[in-house]
Amino acid sequence: METKNQKTIVCPYLPTEGIIDYVPESNAFMMAAKDQARKSNDHNTPTGAVIVSDGKIVSGEHNKAPISNPKLINLHKKYCIRKIFGIPSGHKYWLCPGCATNSSHAEYRVVLNLQKQGINNLNNPELYLWGHWWCCEPCWNKMMELGIKKVFLVEDSELLFERSSPSNIIGKQFA
Ligand SMILES: [Zn+2]
Ligand SMILES: [Zn+2]
Repeated sequence: METKNQKTIVCPYLPTEGIIDYVPESNAFMMAAKDQARKSNDHNTPTGAVIVSDGKIVSGEHNKAPISNPKLINLHKKYCIRKIFGIPSGHKYWLCPGCATNSSHAEYRVVLNLQKQGINNLNNPELYLWGHWWCCEPCWNKMMELGIKKVFLVEDSELLFERSSPSNIIGKQFA
């Protein structure tokens, strides 16, 4: 049987134990993740994440723009250190202060939220991510700390949220 998951979507990063699955945007948990994304101050690539355990949302977060000053944003477009050195997507964000550090990603922040409350023993926690089509290594590592092995994305995320895709909706996510 051919399922969406078996389609060859090659994530730039996926740990061995990590599983990506897909749900329609109408999925209630995915809609909650999208609502989180609406709160983001990253107007270019807003993302939202919720963690679900025992059929309930236990935490929700959005990503944060690493820089918010419009002048700095323009400067970064021209002089991104990672771009200058040709660092591929998903790698070495720490090289460039203008690049989203992993700690500003929604997946990272939503886990940190729970850890700050001392919550780290959830039953089969799963994460729903809206606004992106894969998770970077530091975010996966953070999710694994909480025992999250499964991430749900919106169907066709790799087309909707990938800049090089002709059908991407980046910049008009909430239109
Ligand atoms: Zn950069
Ligand atoms: Zn990340």
